[in-house]
Amino acid sequence: MPDEGRRIEVRGTVQGVGFRPWVYRLARDGGVAGRVRNDAAGVTIEAFGPTEVLDRFVARLRAESPPPAVLDEVRVATIPAETVAGFEITTSERGERRRVSIPPDLATCGACLAEVLDPADRRHRYPFTNCTACGPRYTIARDVPYDRAHTTMAGFALCSRCFNEYGDAGDRRFHAQPNACPDCGPRLRLVDGEGWTLAPDSAAGGAVEAAAARLRAGAIVAVKGLGGFHLACDATSPGAVRLLRERKRRDEKPFAVMVRDLAEAERWAVLETEERRLLEAVERPIVLVRRREGEGLADAVAPGNPLVGLLLAYTPLHHLLLAETDRPLVMTSGNLSEEPMAAGDAEARERLAGIADLFLSHDREIENRCDDSVARVIATRPTVLRRARGYVPRAVPLVRPVRRPVLACGAHLKNTFCFAAGDQAWLGPHVGDLDNLEACRHYEEQIERFQRFLGIRPEVVAHDLHPDYFSTMHAEQRPEPVKVGVQHHHAHVASAMAEHGLEGPVLGLAWDGTGLGTDGTAWGGELLLATFEGFERLATLRPLRLAGGDEAIRQVWRLALAALDDAFDGAPPLEELSLFREVPARERSVVRQMIAKGVQAPLAHGAGRYFDAVGALGLGRRRATYEGQVALEWNLVADEGEAGAYPFSLQRVGEMSEIDLRPTVRGVVDDLLAGVPAPGVSARFHNALAEAAAAAVAEAAERHGPLPVVLTGGCFQNERLVVDVRRRLEPAHVVWQHGEVPPGDGGLALGQALVADAVGRA
Ligand code: ZN
Ligand code: ZN
Ligand code: FE
Repeated sequence: MPDEGRRIEVRGTVQGVGFRPWVYRLARDGGVAGRVRNDAAGVTIEAFGPTEVLDRFVARLRAESPPPAVLDEVRVATIPAETVAGFEITTSERGERRRVSIPPDLATCGACLAEVLDPADRRHRYPFTNCTACGPRYTIARDVPYDRAHTTMAGFALCSRCFNEYGDAGDRRFHAQPNACPDCGPRLRLVDGEGWTLAPDSAAGGAVEAAAARLRAGAIVAVKGLGGFHLACDATSPGAVRLLRERKRRDEKPFAVMVRDLAEAERWAVLETEERRLLEAVERPIVLVRRREGEGLADAVAPGNPLVGLLLAYTPLHHLLLAETDRPLVMTSGNLSEEPMAAGDAEARERLAGIADLFLSHDREIENRCDDSVARVIATRPTVLRRARGYVPRAVPLVRPVRRPVLACGAHLKNTFCFAAGDQAWLGPHVGDLDNLEACRHYEEQIERFQRFLGIRPEVVAHDLHPDYFSTMHAEQRPEPVKVGVQHHHAHVASAMAEHGLEGPVLGLAWDGTGLGTDGTAWGGELLLATFEGFERLATLRPLRLAGGDEAIRQVWRLALAALDDAFDGAPPLEELSLFREVPARERSVVRQMIAKGVQAPLAHGAGRYFDAVGALGLGRRRATYEGQVALEWNLVADEGEAGAYPFSLQRVGEMSEIDLRPTVRGVVDDLLAGVPAPGVSARFHNALAEAAAAAVAEAAERHGPLPVVLTGGCFQNERLVVDVRRRLEPAHVVWQHGEVPPGDGGLALGQALVADAVGRA
C-alpha cells in the first residue's frame, strides 16, 4: 500500500510542556515517519505512512496528550507523501502568523523534586532542576517560538550530560528548554544590600543554609522566584512579620504564606477536597483557606482575618529553603505597597533596599514579571481571583471568534488587559492598581510585550467608560483608529459569558464596588439583560451618597451614615450606635450636610458599598485600610446556621426595578440596638441581599423568560453570597459563576474585548 502524507497543526498550550518529545515517541511507536516542529502558532507535524497507521496516529494524538499540554485545535490536511527514514524533531521555524504558544510556568514535578532530595543524584540540592513537565516557561521567554535560544537560558551552554538528556527521546528532559544542572546551569548567590556576595553557591548548601539561618533569626530575605522577587520572613514570628509590615508600609492587607506540602498546609488551615486540589494544582496559586485556630501562625500575617492565603512551594529553591528553615514563610510580592514586584537584580536591590536584609538571588534572568495568582474555592468551584503566574499566557477559547484583533485595556484597579484574535483571547498578567507611575509603566510595557509574543496588530481598542482611568487614557493615546467604550458591568457580564461560551441573552447579575454607568452615576448593583452587542438595565440597587467620593470608601462610617440617613429619613438613632461614638460631632454634621445636599457626594449603586456601610455599623469599624476590607470582614463573620433575613422591597422606578434596602438597614439597626451579636446580623444581612437578588432575577425571568443567569463582579468573590444566591435561583435557573477568569475587575478586559468586537459587528 502506498504511503500517504498528513500535515497536522496543533494549537493550544503545546510548547514547553514536552509535547514534541511525546509526539516523537507516539510516531515511533506507531511506525509513522516524518517530523515535528514548533512554529509560532503551536506545533506542526508532517506524518507519512499507510492510511490506517496515520489515522491511528491522529486519533491517539487527539485522545492522549501529556498532562500539562492543552490541545485547543488539531487540524489535519492531506499532503503529498515523502520518502523519509524515521521520525525527527526539527528546529523551529518562524511562521508568518504568530499565536502565542508559550506555556505558563509549571510547579516543580514529583520526579524533579525526588532528584533534588536524593544525595546520590547529580542534581542533589540543585535549585534550578526542571524537566518537560515542570519549570519556568513564560517568565523566561523573550520571544516566540518557545525555544531555549529565545529564553533567558540562552546564555547557558548545555554540558554534555544535559545535552544528551536534551537530545534523547527516551529521557524526561528531551527538549526541555530550561534544562540545567550544577555543572552548566544558573547559580544561586546570597547578597547583602550593598551587593557584597555572602555565599556564592554552586549546587546549593551555602546560600540556602545561610539564608535559612537568617530567616530563623527574624530577618527579611528577598528571594528571587519565577516571576519576580518575594519578600520572605518567618510566618510564625510576630516580630518578623510586624517588621515586614512596617518596612513594606502595609497596614493590614494579608500576606501569603508558603508551606512545603499539603500535609503542612493542613496544619495551618482547615481544608476541603477542592481546596487541596487547588493547592496542589500545577499552577500553584495562593489559595484563600480557613485558618486553623490556635495554631502558631503570627496573627500579623492576616490581622483579624479568619482566612489565610496559603501556597505550596513551586520551585526547587522554595523546597530547599522551606526544608532548611523548617517553618512556614511569609512570601509576599517584593515591592513597596502597590507597586509591581521587582524582577531584575539591580532593580530589586534599589527598590527593596530598605525592606530586605539579604537577597537570595541567582543569574537566571526573569524576562516577564508575573505575580503569584490567587484563587479560592467558591461554592465548590475553584475560582481564580488574581490571574497571573501559572495561568498566563494560557488562552481562553472563544465560542464566537472575533472578526478583527482586539486589545481591551481593562479597568483601573486590579488591572489586566486582554488581546483577542480569531477564536482565542489572552488575558495579560495581573498588573494591579494603575495609580502609581511604576504600575502604569509596567502596564504599557506588558501590553507591548504581549502584542509582540502574539504577533497581533489590534484593529479595535476597547476601554472602560470612565475618562480618568489610566487604562482609558492609554486607549485614547493609541494609534489604532477604532476605539470602543464599554460599560463596566456590561463588560463583567460579557466576561462571564465568554468564559462559559454563552452567546446570550443572559440575565447578568453584576455586583461590585463601582463602575461608571451610562447615566453618569456609579453603578454596581446591576441586573442586566445582556448579549455581547448590548444590554438593558433591568434592575439596580437604590443608591447611596458617597460623601467625599472615594474618601467614603476608606472612611466607611460615611457610607454607614448615608445609609442610615436614607433609611431613617434623616433621623437615625446615631447616639445609640457604637460606630458613631468615636466620630467627632463636627465631622459628622459636615458629612451629613454633604449627603443631604448632594455636594461632593455622588450617587453610587454598588452592592459593595452596602457591605461596607452595614459592615461598618455591625463591626463598629470607622475606616478600611484597603479597599473592600470591611466588606470582607463583615462577610467572614456571618453565622453559617442563621437562616433569617431582613426585609427589603423591590419596586418599579421608571423603566427599571429598584432594590430598596432601607428596610434592611432598619432591621440591622433594630437588631444592633437589641444587642444581637454581629454574626447573626451579618447572616441576616447576607440572606436579605441574596433574596433581593433572587427576587430581581425572578421578576426579570417573568418578563424575559428563564434565561441563564451569570454571577459576576467583585461581590461574587464572597462565598456566602454566591452560595445563598445560587440556592435561591436553582434549579429554576441555570446559574454560571466564574472559574479561570476572575469575577472582579481582573477579568473585565475579556468582556470588554468581546463587546467591542460585537458592537463593531452590528
Ligand atoms: Zn520536572
Ligand atoms: Zn548540565
Ligand atoms: Fe467591577
